Amino acid sequence: MPPPNFGEFNRFPDKGEKAMKTLKSTFLISSAFAVAVTAGQGIAQTNPTIESIAAVNEANFTKAAANTAEESADKVSLLSTLETGHCEVDDTFAIAIHGGSVFWRGAIHAAKIPLMRQVLTDARSMLANGARAIDVVESAIASMENSGHFNAGKGAIANQAVGIELDASIMDGRQLQAGAVAAVSNLRNPIVAARMVMDKSDHVMMVGPNAEHFIEQNGGDTVDVSYFLHGGQNFSGVPLPDDMSILAADDNISSEQDDYLGIWAGVISGNFNHILVVEKTEGDKAQVIYAQGPHPAWGEGFYRRLEGSFVDGALQVMEPAEFGGYKLTYRLNPDDTFFLEATHPDFPDAQGTMTRLPSRLGPDNKSGTVGAVVRDRCGDLAAGTSTGGFDSKIPGRVGDSPIIGAGTYADNETAAISATGHGEFFMRHVVAYDITAAMKYRDLSLEQAATNLIKQDLLAKGLRGGVIAVDRDGSFVMTYNTSGMVRGVTTNALEPSVKVYK
Ligand code: ASP
Repeated sequence: MPPPNFGEFNRFPDKGEKAMKTLKSTFLISSAFAVAVTAGQGIAQTNPTIESIAAVNEANFTKAAANTAEESADKVSLLSTLETGHCEVDDTFAIAIHGGSVFWRGAIHAAKIPLMRQVLTDARSMLANGARAIDVVESAIASMENSGHFNAGKGAIANQAVGIELDASIMDGRQLQAGAVAAVSNLRNPIVAARMVMDKSDHVMMVGPNAEHFIEQNGGDTVDVSYFLHGGQNFSGVPLPDDMSILAADDNISSEQDDYLGIWAGVISGNFNHILVVEKTEGDKAQVIYAQGPHPAWGEGFYRRLEGSFVDGALQVMEPAEFGGYKLTYRLNPDDTFFLEATHPDFPDAQGTMTRLPSRLGPDNKSGTVGAVVRDRCGDLAAGTSTGGFDSKIPGRVGDSPIIGAGTYADNETAAISATGHGEFFMRHVVAYDITAAMKYRDLSLEQAATNLIKQDLLAKGLRGGVIAVDRDGSFVMTYNTSGMVRGVTTNALEPSVKVYK
């Protein structure tokens, strides 16, 4: 049987048909509209009242053009402040950074921690010396992109077609200026590119090869595809069941897991995904998570967290009685693969080999979107986010990170936010903006607005992720509803500190 293809994981099988219907009705509406407009023009030629309206419109148009010129002048003056800007109105400053949500409790992030501490130390001295929030956001994220330790910039993971597609955005809270790039493949620093879109174009977002071209023309750094480490897909191309992110729900983690054995993935019964996470506990006993992709006989994908034990070189896991009480036997081979033996009486072919997944979840894994939020000594706010996108994304998919309001938002009136998590949900819930809206319209504090949304509303809907945020007082929040979030903070009063779990 052939391996699963994208089609099997299409959750919107009737989308093509729906799109066609929408297209048809749009066509009908626009045709009707065209007829009405044409009829209107006929009237305009003979009706003096309409002509006078046209004259007013002409005047308005001239005024609008003048406004645009004024806005451009504003923009230029803003840029010159940015370039020469120095900022020492008060002593307060704060920067929080993140290196992505942690969905798997066993994932080890050791290499990221010293790097993030360094980023915070550098940012701290920049801010103490009066650097602008927007500059510090850009520089902190660019350092994380260049490190190769995250799923952003150099370390970006490959999509399912083994291509690189990067997304990033940046926002300046002073005048709600913003810039973003999406699905770019050859830019060294997507965050710098996002800043260039903000500073050097009249637009907010540019995508694909034309964005690359624009950045290159404006002096941005391009790189060959070999620059990227191609961290590989998290699950070696094995698409996950939709609800895998639910694995995150475990808050009882206080530190890195020394006793984590690893994660193995493969296919059983020919082509059904099976994932095994082994967290060794005591002696021969192990904590095991196993996850199963969608299967015609077993239905939707699911996962179970169970006790296991090593007996005669095999890991044995007993399913609870309500799921049939079968014993799963994973034989550990000398080549570090596990072989799931067929023990289920109804499914004699439910067997297969699982190979250990590479570095992404090992000691030097490359997971993690990156983000930064800053309050500078002028009380100005800025935010930015950069990513290679969600694990195993299909080519062309764009997540929330480059979407202003979803993955990134900054408004001096409220807060600066950078999000990480399952982008599709963050877009639908307009997460970053929603936090600022709760502050603005419901008068909530940043802490209340962010934790209510992440820990209550989104969690209740099963949506996993987290945010970092700062407000004008320099208060910061780093909240998540996943197993962990790679995150760090420093302020004028607080030395850099980096954490992954609790
Ligand atoms: N939000 C990112 C995306 O959906 C992924 C992440 O933050 O882990 O592209």
